[in-house]
Amino acid sequence: AAPTSGSGVTAFKVESPHVRYGESTIESDYLYDTTIVSRDASTGQLKAKPTKVHYQFQTKTKVGRVGLMLVGWAGNNGTTVTASILANKKNISWETRKGTQEPNYFGSVMMASTVKLGVDANLNDVYVPFNEVVPMAHPNDIVIGGWDINSLSIGDAMRRAQVLPVDLQRRLYDELKELKPLPSVYYPDFIAANQEERADNTIGGTKQEQLDHLRKDIRDFKQANDLDRVIVMWTANTERYADIIAGVNDTADNLLKAVAEGHSEVSPSTLFALASILEGAPFVNGSPQNTLVPGVIELSERERCFVGGDDFKSGQTKIKSVLAEFLVNAGIKPVAITSYNHLGNNDGRNLSAPAQFRSKEISKSSVVDDMVGANNILYKKGEHPDHTIVIKYVPSVGDSKRALDEYVSEIFMGGLNTISIYNTCEDSLLASPLIIDLFMMTELMTRVSYRVKSDADAAEPEWAQFHSVLSILSYMLKAPVVPPNTPVVNALAKQRMAMENIMRAFVGLPPNNEMLLEHKAF
Ligand code: NAD
Repeated sequence: AAPTSGSGVTAFKVESPHVRYGESTIESDYLYDTTIVSRDASTGQLKAKPTKVHYQFQTKTKVGRVGLMLVGWAGNNGTTVTASILANKKNISWETRKGTQEPNYFGSVMMASTVKLGVDANLNDVYVPFNEVVPMAHPNDIVIGGWDINSLSIGDAMRRAQVLPVDLQRRLYDELKELKPLPSVYYPDFIAANQEERADNTIGGTKQEQLDHLRKDIRDFKQANDLDRVIVMWTANTERYADIIAGVNDTADNLLKAVAEGHSEVSPSTLFALASILEGAPFVNGSPQNTLVPGVIELSERERCFVGGDDFKSGQTKIKSVLAEFLVNAGIKPVAITSYNHLGNNDGRNLSAPAQFRSKEISKSSVVDDMVGANNILYKKGEHPDHTIVIKYVPSVGDSKRALDEYVSEIFMGGLNTISIYNTCEDSLLASPLIIDLFMMTELMTRVSYRVKSDADAAEPEWAQFHSVLSILSYMLKAPVVPPNTPVVNALAKQRMAMENIMRAFVGLPPNNEMLLEHKAF
């Protein structure tokens, strides 16, 4: 039988002396295999030393009542994810030209993809849903709220978005029109001037008063809905980059002082990140701007509150992070990646302004860096493929974004290979499941702690939570923010494998690999 969300039950139980199921926790002992590499000083040869590190993980199994506060709730993503969760929760189906359509969670890696658990007695693979490897929150149980600088109800904003089919909109409208976004912080300088007419739902006062106001909003939402935990996610317009200025946003204390003094380089999204961290609510940035300035990262470390970002990885970049990895790992050398987009929703309208486009350009451009950097046969140190990104606003295509990409690669003996891709999709139907996955993964991490054991330990080490910058969210994000001095992984398959194998480690299972040795013997 399918486990029910929040019950602490998963599809399987691990039988191992290294896994302990308690009243409200799962604890595992886990040997992490790594290979430490050094270079022999005299011969210059690399030396590879297999090493084992003894980790213990503790996962609280009770999910409790969880809430999600979206910044930009009345936008296309905000309304699409809210309406779609409601349709799933109430099992509301709707009529299409092709017949009745049931709600689903397609596009959510947690809700609609599987993980290999192992093999049965006949060596057949056994798969389980990703969200049943460890107990996770179910999207149907999330209490959703949030802010928008526009006052339209979520029902009317869903209509304005023109994303979901009309018959479904009709069935959801009455309930969604009762949901009203909280007033938000609007600094015209940070988003495109063409957004000004939307800003009819804003908070006045000083920056410090606005920060206090947002903190109270989070507390009130938590209390009014009797929630154990709230996660805040930015899915509002793309802002311009904030300048990183010494003494303003470079450290936690400077940033808090800059807010108190009303400094103009503190963006609305950074103010939301600060409010969330100070309320102990994890914060995820779904847009490309540099919300997580050094002062925010430092505050998140100090307060032990999770942050994640940047920019939902939905369409074109997701394919790029697959294709570039395939090409480079096949020994083929991409020399030019040229990407055009056109879209006609409000996001596209905002991105038609140069400063906001620049944020998107930066977040889209670093996506092949790790693959290129890993292959010094194809690329000399510092060498990169040409990488060009163009985004145009074409109102008539609405949310149906078009992405045209050309990959030119050098192949055997100086030959060239050109791959051309044309991708059409409702942008918000790609982004909404990512909001769900980001929520589910972030929520899980609030319940996990770990410690590293060594024979030299005199006393039992303390349990700790993972680093406050959640690099495990990278699969869902275009330009992953990682803890200081940590490598950024963009390759999609590696990112998925990291999520899968870390979750397996929480229940004491070894990492999945594709060796299939059991099938290779005579
Ligand atoms: P949208 O324009 O439809 O929605 C954004 C909403 O944010 C609007 O309702 C706007 O009124 C509101 N807003 C603006 N500034 C605000 C503030 N300071 N406080 C509160 N609300 C504010 O855009 P969308 O299509 O929903 O996309 C949202 C964001 O997600 C964009 O930044 C976009 O670049 C990013 N993103 C989207 C996708 C995707 O849709 N596939 C992928 C990656 C990133």
